[in-house]
This record gives sequence, structure tokens and C-alpha cells, in this order.
Amino acid sequence: MTGGGPLAGQVAVVTGGSRGIGLGVAEALAGDGARVAVVARNGERAAAAAAGLPGEGHCGLACDVASAADCKEAVAETTKRLGPAAILVNNAGITRDNILLRLRDEDWSAVVETNLGGAFNMIRATARAMMKRRAGSIVNVSSVIGLTGNAGQANYAASKAGLHGLTKSVARELAPRGIRCNAVAPGFVKTDMTAGLGEARTEELRQRIPLGALGRPADVAGLVAFLAGPGARYITGQVIAVDGGMAM
Ligand code: NAP
Repeated sequence: MTGGGPLAGQVAVVTGGSRGIGLGVAEALAGDGARVAVVARNGERAAAAAAGLPGEGHCGLACDVASAADCKEAVAETTKRLGPAAILVNNAGITRDNILLRLRDEDWSAVVETNLGGAFNMIRATARAMMKRRAGSIVNVSSVIGLTGNAGQANYAASKAGLHGLTKSVARELAPRGIRCNAVAPGFVKTDMTAGLGEARTEELRQRIPLGALGRPADVAGLVAFLAGPGARYITGQVIAVDGGMAM
């Protein structure tokens, strides 16, 4: 059972929804009335995150988005348990930072296959049902690094810039079917991903943020939920930064 809210009665899939920004997104969508399938490699953590969401009827699923077969299965399982997804948030992402000459083949492929390939796999797995229903909203979580590039993050920046191209192509291709696709590009957000940077580096990065503070997952989640919902019915193919002014 769901209560009211702009997303009441809708099913959402959130990849990487077990912690960090994805958990914030899952909370925001559930708070707006959606039933959410939380997807992550660690199925137990995904299930625990789903159990903690507001409202009822959520589920957690184990899935490595880099695997097309996993994605197909997770989407089929979501449809079986919750119904067909009207909202897809491609948020799962990883970093394997290193300077160019030290980037190993596996650092390149793991990051590109997860961050970019994962979004493609999930879009392909959900698009047919959205097309049949002539409705859907896809939000890809990229990064300001995809707009600016960054020394030591060639793999990550390429995967995120690739997401921008994917977003615009999907937006153009699926607009006639009533499906929107946008990207949200966060700046520097306090999560497990940024926890390992150390105090000095964090302070150095903070000083490059005009609004003077790191973002919180909820700052990104608010925009994702807006883009997923009816208030954004005339917005597609956009890349919107949520970064305290970092990349303007
Ligand atoms: P995080 O705290 O490290 O969480 C990552 C989430 O993704 C976890 O739920 C993780 O669960 C899941 N995940 C990772 N690889 C996966 C895979 N192959 N298949 C399925 N799930 C996978 O990361 P975050 O900081 O919240 O970042 C979320 C997204 O925002 C990422 O795309 C990241 O690039 C982007 N972003 C973050 C920042 C930032 O400052 N934090 C800035 C810009 C953009 P499992 O480990 O269980 O799979």
C-alpha cells in the first residue's frame, strides 16, 4: 500500500540504492509515494535499505549492473514483485582513480562497464515495458567530472561524459514514446565514495565550492525525484549539476 504523493502508485528502480546518494534517492522517491526496488551487488544491504524506506511495498535485489544478464533478471523480478517500472534511476557507480600511465586495463573496464555500461544495461532492460505503456522517466546520475574532466580520473570522467551522450540519445530516441531521460551531475557529496579522501584533500576540494560546503545525498535526491515526477513532464535530454556552484 502506498499513501499519497506525486509518485503514488508508481514503481521505481534505483541502482546503487543501498547507501550514499542512491539511498537518498530511494528515500525521496518512496517519500513521494513510489514503491522502490533497491538494486546493489550486496543483496542483503539492498534488502535492509528497502526495509528502512518510508511506506510499504519496496524490495531489495542483488544485481551487478555491469552484467546485462543480472540487469535483465533484476528488472524481471521487479516486475514480478512490484509491477513494471515507470522510473529508473541509474546511480550505481565506482571509482578506480590513477594517473593515466598507471591506469590498468581492469581499472578502465571496471569503471566504464559499471558507470556507463550499467546504465545502458538497465535502460535496455526497462525501456520495452516503458515504451508499451508510453510513459517513463529515466534519470542517470553522472558527475561534474564528466563535464570538466579531472587529472587522475580519465576512466571515471570518460564514463560520466559517456553517460551524458547516452542520456541525450535516449532522450531523443524515446521522446516520441512518452519517455524522458535526464542526467544529474553531482559535485562533491559526503558518502562512502568520498570518505577515503582524507581531511586535507577534502578541505582543498571544499575551498573550490562556491557555496562553501560538501553536498548531502538529499541535495541530489531532491532533484532526481523532481525529474522523475510530473513536475518535470516537459524536461528531457538535460544534464543538471548539483554541485554548490563548482562547475559553473
Ligand atoms: P557509494 O557511497 O560508493 O555507493 C555506491 C552504490 O552503488 C552502493 O549502493 C553500491 O552497492 C552500488 N554499486 C556499486 N557498484 C555496483 C554495481 N556494479 N552494480 C550494482 N550496484 C553497484 O557512492 P555515492 O558516492 O553514493 O555515488 C553514487 C553515484 O553518484 C555514483 O554514480 C557516483 O559516481 C556519483 N557521484 C558521486 C559523487 C560524490 O561526491 N559522492 C560525486 C559525483 C557523482 P554495492 O557495493 O553493494 O554494489
